[in-house]
Amino acid sequence: MGQVKLISRFFEIEGCRLRRVYEENGGYAAARRVITENWTGEKIIETLKKSNLRGLGGAGFPTGMKWGFVPRDQEGPRYLVVNADESEPGTFKDRHVMLHAPHLLIEGIIIAAASIDAEEAFIYIRGEYWEPYRVMLEALEEARQAGYLGENIFGSDRRLEVMIHRGAGAYICGEETALLSSLEGYKGFPKLKPPFPAVKGLFSRPTVINNVETLSYVPIVIDKGPEYFAGLGTERSGGARLFGVSGHVERPGVYELTLGTPMRELIYTHAGGVRNGAKLKAVIPGGTSCPVLRADEIDVPLDFDSLARLGSMLGSGGTIVMDETTDLVEVLLRICRFYSWESCGQCTPCREGTGWMTRIMERVAGGQGNSRDLDDLVDIAQKITGNTICPLGDAAALPVISFITKFRDEFEARVASAAAAAGRPQATERV
Ligand code: SF4
Repeated sequence: MGQVKLISRFFEIEGCRLRRVYEENGGYAAARRVITENWTGEKIIETLKKSNLRGLGGAGFPTGMKWGFVPRDQEGPRYLVVNADESEPGTFKDRHVMLHAPHLLIEGIIIAAASIDAEEAFIYIRGEYWEPYRVMLEALEEARQAGYLGENIFGSDRRLEVMIHRGAGAYICGEETALLSSLEGYKGFPKLKPPFPAVKGLFSRPTVINNVETLSYVPIVIDKGPEYFAGLGTERSGGARLFGVSGHVERPGVYELTLGTPMRELIYTHAGGVRNGAKLKAVIPGGTSCPVLRADEIDVPLDFDSLARLGSMLGSGGTIVMDETTDLVEVLLRICRFYSWESCGQCTPCREGTGWMTRIMERVAGGQGNSRDLDDLVDIAQKITGNTICPLGDAAALPVISFITKFRDEFEARVASAAAAAGRPQATERV
């Protein structure tokens, strides 16, 4: 189906940061309905399940199912946590939502909190997102003033307090268990799962954690109906999502497309094609942790399953487009440096492996590499994959495997030219 305007319609309405403008354009109708009609948690969750809305932070877990894991028979508090710690390189769509449609997120929070009977919700926002933080603070205050947050929301007997907490700039705090630890005041260290947050999350209480974009689709699902939303996407990936396109395109920006739209359409129709008519070389589909695609792979439909079949991921929707002039050796070096820097250091394969891969890549990029280095890089990356506490290990390893496997010629050429310039034969011994 292609481009739609569900979340993104609010981006185009002037002044939509204000509650009044948001409400004039249909805002808060879904939350009002859910609260004043006293929808049960089961009814909200069933609606979300029917919609096929999946988590849009990266993992893609079905939203309704996640909410359904929260035990309903336990006394005591449950929490809703919003992951607004958007730090994956190439990803900037949550920022756009918070800047242009903060009340849409708040409305999603109200409905999600009602589904698990949570009376307290937390927005954990990336420390560098100063402007979105300020906008969200103002929007929260406006919602409180209107009686949509606080005591007796929408005149009901429900209560909902929403707190906003700024992170300190650690990528790893986007991982849900690390985020919860950080929110509790501890170091942002990921934890082994299970237990999952739905059972034992914030302050060891049942907790639902979703990212900004996912929650922002919730009012739309309620408003338009789950069948409508599910019908926009593919069989297993409901609706639409936001794609943040950056890199060598004519019109970088945030585009909202139904799931299943071909990547070619995103790049060539909506983002205006490759800059200056250049040839496309490679695309990272969903943030730098997702395996890279070659130019001949961009007819892939943008949905979770199709990208998985290609050995990549839809991830966070952060699409990085690289033209024929891009030095992929330099790109991979930057990616390696990033994950090495951001590793929390708890797991040996991630702590040592990311540093090791970075040092080898520095040699390769600096003209000191040899052809064995490329095999070593893939070998180290394969040994990290699946052997760590959290997905950062895989996030660091998968780009290495995909760049070197798919663009081996370019890496070989760098090694060969370095050897030729130094007047040495192509070395095979480890340096
Ligand atoms: Fe920390 Fe890396 Fe282990 Fe994740 S995989 S817990 S970031 S060391």
